[in-house]
Amino acid sequence: MWSCFLAITCPLAKEFAMHRPLFRLSVLALALGVCGSAMAATHGEVAAREMRHVATAFKGRMAGTETEQATAAYLAKAFKKMGYQVGEQPFTSSFEYEKADKSKVKREVKSINVIATKPGMDGKVVIVGAHFDSRTPKKDSDIGKIGGPKLEGLDDNASGVGMLLEIADQLKKTKTQHTIKFVAFGAEELGLLGSKDYVARMSDSDKQNVIAMVNMDSLITGDKMYFHAGKETVAKDAKAGFVRDRALAIAKKLGIAADTNPGLDKEYPKGTGCCSDQESFDEAGMPVLAVEATNWEIGDKDGYEQTTNKAIKDGMSWHRPDVDNVKNLETIFPQRVEQRSRDFSRILTPLVIELAGGKAK
Ligand SMILES: [Zn+2]
Repeated sequence: MWSCFLAITCPLAKEFAMHRPLFRLSVLALALGVCGSAMAATHGEVAAREMRHVATAFKGRMAGTETEQATAAYLAKAFKKMGYQVGEQPFTSSFEYEKADKSKVKREVKSINVIATKPGMDGKVVIVGAHFDSRTPKKDSDIGKIGGPKLEGLDDNASGVGMLLEIADQLKKTKTQHTIKFVAFGAEELGLLGSKDYVARMSDSDKQNVIAMVNMDSLITGDKMYFHAGKETVAKDAKAGFVRDRALAIAKKLGIAADTNPGLDKEYPKGTGCCSDQESFDEAGMPVLAVEATNWEIGDKDGYEQTTNKAIKDGMSWHRPDVDNVKNLETIFPQRVEQRSRDFSRILTPLVIELAGGKAK
């Protein structure tokens, strides 16, 4: 609404300035200033553009590969362009690989996290994250089918990375009381390795200073938009679900359909999510928000089956190069990239500003 109003008034203001020489300078300055902020406020533009770009320009961004490193360099550059302080944190870890004869070997992997910081005025921190790696085959039998160099991973997880850049762009000129850290995690697909490394480097006081960690993973294929809390933190204290409750309240106010896990599978309690980088923070006692799109009411009701759309075999696009790519998903779901980019941004931008103690425009 705000940006529509400005889209109409900005050309009028410029027109006015051209015909009233006395006021030209001041009105033009005002118009440019207001129009500049209107451009930043058009929700979803950056997310849609960046998710398509990351998916297609960096396909096969498997942990430990040159493509993963190139993606990290691209993201670091993008954050720097927005004016953020950027740190790159390389790490070495390992994962278990299953060979054709079913024997298992440990494989070393070198990956990297990219961290953009918006300094606040006190020690409190809000972390916003998304993994940028795409699936690495974890078994000989995966090769050619699951993950690999041809996987674009628009849904998992160029979509989350696009939203990460979107929120960073929306907030680049907003002053906040608390620090915000935008983190692009490497090697999530090999066992949350990037987020585990990030949490391992935190001191106890670092952890206590975290207001919340917001994680975005797989925002396109799923039938519905979801917001969940962390299983471990809410089991100890229901109040840790406050970020989920705020996200759902903002969505409701905006008239955007959004839900949380209904808890139809006892393994995944109502209102909590699973299976992405927020778990590393949840397990270390920090309040989290898991942002995703899927469908928790179908299949095994564990959130793994994403859609009832018959054009997606078995209702899942996960890690399949022939399914999770821009051309295919945009053919099956026309306008979905725009809709999700806009709607998630409309909810998450004010939410992150609120968490960080800033003022929404
Ligand atoms: Zn993912």
